[in-house]
This record gives sequence, C-alpha cells and structure tokens, in this order.
Amino acid sequence: MSRAQVVLVGIGFAGREAVEVLAHQDVDVLVLDRYNYHTFYPLLYQVAIAGVGPDEVAYPARALVSKYPNVRFRMAEVTGLDLAGRTVLTDKGPVPYEYLILAAGSRPDFFGLEGVARAAFPLDNINDAISMRNHILECFERASTETLLERRRELLTFVIVGGGPTGVELAGALAELQRHTLRSDFPDLSLDQVRIVLIEMLDTVLPLYAESLQNYARRKLEQMGVELILGTAVEDATCHSVDLEDGQTIDAQTVIWAAGVRARLSEALPFETDGRGGMIVDETLQIPEHPQTFVAGDMAHLLGPDGKPYPQLAPVATQQGEHAAKNILRLVRNEPLQPFRFKDRGTMTTIGRAAAVAEVYGRQLTGLTAWLLWLAVHIFTIMGFQNRLLLLIHWAYDYFRYAPGARIIVGVRRECPPEPDDGGTFETLSQSVDATLR
Ligand SMILES: Cc1cc2nc3c(=O)[nH]c(=O)nc-3n(C[C@H](O)[C@H](O)[C@H](O)COP(=O)(O)OP(=O)(O)OC[C@H]3O[C@@H](n4cnc5c(N)ncnc54)[C@H](O)[C@@H]3O)c2cc1C
Repeated sequence: MSRAQVVLVGIGFAGREAVEVLAHQDVDVLVLDRYNYHTFYPLLYQVAIAGVGPDEVAYPARALVSKYPNVRFRMAEVTGLDLAGRTVLTDKGPVPYEYLILAAGSRPDFFGLEGVARAAFPLDNINDAISMRNHILECFERASTETLLERRRELLTFVIVGGGPTGVELAGALAELQRHTLRSDFPDLSLDQVRIVLIEMLDTVLPLYAESLQNYARRKLEQMGVELILGTAVEDATCHSVDLEDGQTIDAQTVIWAAGVRARLSEALPFETDGRGGMIVDETLQIPEHPQTFVAGDMAHLLGPDGKPYPQLAPVATQQGEHAAKNILRLVRNEPLQPFRFKDRGTMTTIGRAAAVAEVYGRQLTGLTAWLLWLAVHIFTIMGFQNRLLLLIHWAYDYFRYAPGARIIVGVRRECPPEPDDGGTFETLSQSVDATLR
C-alpha cells in the first residue's frame, strides 16, 4: 500500500515541530520553504543591532530534515493552491499533496500607509535585519563626517514604530549599542545628539502584559534614554521624516516598523480569513470543508477559551504545528481527531542588560531574574548546538566587554526608494532589498 503524502509549507516554528512529529512515521513528507533555512525570529533584532551574526539565528533546513528518511526539503516559494487538483502551486512548479499543513507565518502589515511601507525598515527576515544593521552603522559613519548640524541630527534620530515586544527590544538594544559601544567607536562624534524614539498608538508599551510590567518597561526605557511617544499613531513617513497623527513631525533617516503583522498567503489562498488575514480553522486546525488542509501558527485564526484569537507568538505556533501533525497521523490511521488546547507557560520580553519582564505560570518577574530566564529560554529553544554555544559565548563576552562583534557594514544595502511622483515605481523596502540580492 502506498504511503500518505504530506506537504508542509514553511519550516518556521510550526513547521519544525510538525517535522519532528511526522519523522519516522508511516507518511512521506515534503517540506517547502522560500528560504533554505529556519529563522529564529525572537533574536532577529539582535542581528539588526549588530549583537550577533545572521548565521547564529538561522538553521539550515536540509540539516533539519536530513536525519529523517521519510522527510524531504525543497526550496520553493508557494504562490497558490489548486484545491480541485490537490496541488500546491510554487515558483518551481506544482506539488501534489494528500494532506497539507500551511505554516508560512506572517509578514509586516503597514495598514495601507504607502509612504511608511516605502520608507520604513521592517524586520521580516534575515535580509531585513542585515540591511537595518548596515543602515544604522552607516548613519553613525555619515554623521561622523557631517558638518551640517540639522543633517547630523537627522542621521542620529532613530524612530521605532510599535511598542510591542519587538519595538521595545529594538529600542532598548539600540540605546545600549549607542551608549556603551558606539561611544568608544566614534570618539569624535557627540552622541548626545542621538535620539531613539519609540512611538506607540496605545497609551502604554507592552499592552499584552500586566500593568506593573508595562510600567517597569516604560521606566526602564526612559532611564536608558529612549523617548516614548504614546497615544498617537504614525501617519506618513519619508526617508527623512515621520509624521504623527497629533501633528508632530520628526526628522529622521531611520524609521523601523514593528507595529503589526498580517498572515502570509491570505490573498493567494481560497479560504475564509479574519481581518488580519488569518485563515479560519476549526478546533482541529482543519479548514472547514477541507479536512486534508491544516493551518498552524501565525497563518491560523482560532479563538481561545477567552473568546480571543490566539496571539501570533512562537509558543502558539510550536504547539499548533505539533498538533496539526498529530491530527494528520490520526486521520491517516482513521482515529478521531483531537481539538487544539494551548498550554500557556508564559511570555517574556527583554529591555536591556539585566532588565526584562516575564509572566511565567501566572507569576510576574522583572529585572535580573526575568532577564536570566529570558536568556535561558532563548538559548534552550534556538535550533542547533553550535548556535547555542556561539550565542552563549557572544552574550557572555558582550556582557563584560560591551563589544558586540557584528558591527560591520557588509552585504545587503538599501537606497531610499523613489517617491511615486519622482516617476519611480512603488516598492517597499523589503522589495528593494530583495532586488539587490537577486
Ligand atoms: C522580529 C520578530 C520578533 C519576534 N519575537 C518573538 C518573541 O520574542 N516571542 C514570541 O513568542 N514570538 C515572537 N515573534 C513571533 C513569532 O516569531 C511567530 O509567532 C512565529 O515565528 C510564527 O511561527 P510560524 O511557524 O507560524 O511562522 P514562521 O516561524 O514565520 O515560519 C514561516 C516559514 O514559512 C516560510 N514562508 C513564508 N512564505 C512562504 C511562501 N510563500 N512559500 C514558502 N515558504 C514560505 C518562511 O520562510 C518561514 O520559514 C517575533 C516575530 C518577529 C517577526
């Protein structure tokens, strides 16, 4: 009898867990991903601020699957689905499936703000992180020889949009890079002109955390020199300025977007979605009326017991990837499927050296304890022994020496894309970065 064919789209958090479940089982698995590596997103911001190198937050997809005889990998970008023909459409040709797990994650959502999409740096993949790192370091290099005070200020103003975990982590890390490392790298540059501005449309940062943790994070960021602008949204941006809803304009050559994401492939797939592109699944993670199709992670829309959709976080994706794969095995064996139940162990965000917030099993932690826990969890969950070891060495070295080693301008560079009325075609920063790589 022939074995069931499972196609898995995306080797992210959900995908890597699904592979572990399906390995050595009575199914053949083909993993598709547009990149040939798994990305550990929670540490991507560290690449962007020169804390670690890009290979420390990535793991080769083929190394991940090659230990399993029934799992294969193909680097291919999924572009659509032929439901009637049970075929995944990709840029490398069609791929037939019997069972399908969609786990392609999410992408930045600029909420229709075209100027912002053009000018802002997103943090969606490793290329984005490298291009952001190059740009930040280049701003300091250019400021060191800039004689016009206004232009120097513009070069040294860094605006981060979005006060969620990514925005807070970036703002804190940038403040530390500037305060401890770049001060000695640029002895002739007055770094008192550096402005790091964090903008959040709500009245607080880290809105998903308890109020006491939000207040701790605010205090800590302010102590580190981060300027908080709360309760107002970004309306527009160019490569030289940011306009806020309350009428303020900030002159800055760096705008970083960390304000929202949208499920990937939502426009390309023939399934019902929610407002942020999440594919509506039932409790078993199947698309209603398409029992062979499962969705896991950021792409899935499923309500939790509190009536709210599960958040787009790594632990949710990990558990859903595992659950979808287990349900496929149940389906193959004609066993009843099980509903997904999330086991919430907690969440944490780092702000800076010895400063973090954590909610773990209902307990609230701040400061050094939360920070050590954050370090331990990230070391433990990143893929690959070598990555763990390198991270440990880098973080320990950096902790005592304040000298992150990845402060080099290399690879992906980005020029400011032309404004549409300059006769240029509209493209987001990611698109222009991708174009330089081809
Ligand atoms: C910068 C950043 C920081 C984050 N920090 C945290 C954090 O600290 N804690 C936390 O819990 N969560 C964090 N998250 C969220 C977390 O990373 C996501 O919830 C999680 O990655 C979702 O897992 P997933 O498997 O659904 O998708 P992903 O992990 O994003 O994996 C999707 C995979 O699909 C591939 N793919 C995408 N499109 C296609 C296509 N068309 N064809 C083929 N392959 C495709 C991608 O290359 C990728 O490998 C962060 C996210 C970002 C962007």
